[in-house]
Amino acid sequence: MLRNTTVRLSRPMVFHGRLTRLQSTFTIPKTQKGVVFYEHGGELLYKDIPVPKPKPNEILVNVKYSGVCHTDLHAWKGDWPLATKLPLVGGHEGAGVVVAKGKDVKNFEIGDYAGIKWLNSSCMSCEVCEQGHESNCSHADLSGYTHDGTFQQYATADAVQAAHIPKNADLAQVAPILCAGVTVYKALKTSGAKPGQWVAISGAAGGLGSLAVQYAKTMGLRVLGIDGGERKEQLFKSLGGEVFIDFTKSKDIVSDIQEATQGGPHAVINVSVSDAAISQSTKYVRPTGTVVLVGLPVKAVVKSEVFSHVVKSINIKGSYVGNRADTREAIDFFSRGLVRSPIKIIGLSELGKVYEMMEAGTILGRYVVDTSR
Ligand code: NAD
Ligand code: ZN
Repeated sequence: MLRNTTVRLSRPMVFHGRLTRLQSTFTIPKTQKGVVFYEHGGELLYKDIPVPKPKPNEILVNVKYSGVCHTDLHAWKGDWPLATKLPLVGGHEGAGVVVAKGKDVKNFEIGDYAGIKWLNSSCMSCEVCEQGHESNCSHADLSGYTHDGTFQQYATADAVQAAHIPKNADLAQVAPILCAGVTVYKALKTSGAKPGQWVAISGAAGGLGSLAVQYAKTMGLRVLGIDGGERKEQLFKSLGGEVFIDFTKSKDIVSDIQEATQGGPHAVINVSVSDAAISQSTKYVRPTGTVVLVGLPVKAVVKSEVFSHVVKSINIKGSYVGNRADTREAIDFFSRGLVRSPIKIIGLSELGKVYEMMEAGTILGRYVVDTSR
């Protein structure tokens, strides 16, 4: 698949017709294919766009595959209370090859495999960055949101935040780990659930959910999954899930879950895009258990009855992607074969079809786009 991966350092190259201090041994075109939109909910145009130039701190990645996250749909629709750049190239689960780097980049060589994640860069000097919570940085620059993302053949990222991907990795398979995998792995850690305890994954057969089931299992947890329909149940079971509750069939989801887990799960990871499901999780969680908020339905408010919240002493915590260490660890689980990405590959030119299926809730696992078609 790859050609021309010989590493020769510090050779200035002609880039966009100008001599720069970029390092590369690859021939980088001036234009590339990408999917861009000019207004929220507007046409998704598959067209020729300029190849971005990496800044001194950035790498230029030839993105081979990118996962399609529900967040990309939110970004296209513009339904969150946070402005995107426009026009915008979405995407933040990009896996590919470093083809150029700015003069200050020390942690990547040309030819390395790299991943572009949601957190494209952060200031690295504020209090939250200092403590390793860089996704919470108020200066965060977000791939596919405030920084053109991975639905293009060449994308840039701050080298400090870009993920290192082992050379033998399958780039299509590893792509979803860069957001979905990191996010659910971090959310499971945030939940504080211990080996042998029950965790409920609400939205268990979607992109995040299908990875959450596997990370949870490999972390020694017992997994109950909630999603809708037989195909979703089959996927959940094939990933090693123990008990499935179908929200489209259950007459009393709270008691069904409490019964199946002998008193409620010790933790709930909410990855559905349903605010009703999120509020419900405060009812079925076990006394002293933890509800983790991950999915971001539009204008959602989590409602927890104060009396039972106090008497059961439950916790509600937000969890937002993960830091560099979480990323390295999440990729390591993947590399050791402990989690796999249930993916379907489709051409980048067909991105709109993925959004339609996502909106309809019919996707099993994750769609990954191949940027070469
Ligand atoms: P997805 O569309 O692939 O999966 C959502 C799943 O939820 C689907 O399988 C759907 O059938 C299921 N579902 C719908 N209604 C349900 C209900 N009432 N009960 C249980 N399951 C239900 O989406 P995804 O890519 O996995 O993303 C999920 C959400 O997480 C999105 O809002 C996304 O923006 C957000 N997200 C948050 C973070 C973070 O850091 N917090 C990171 C990535 C994505
Ligand atoms: Zn995402």
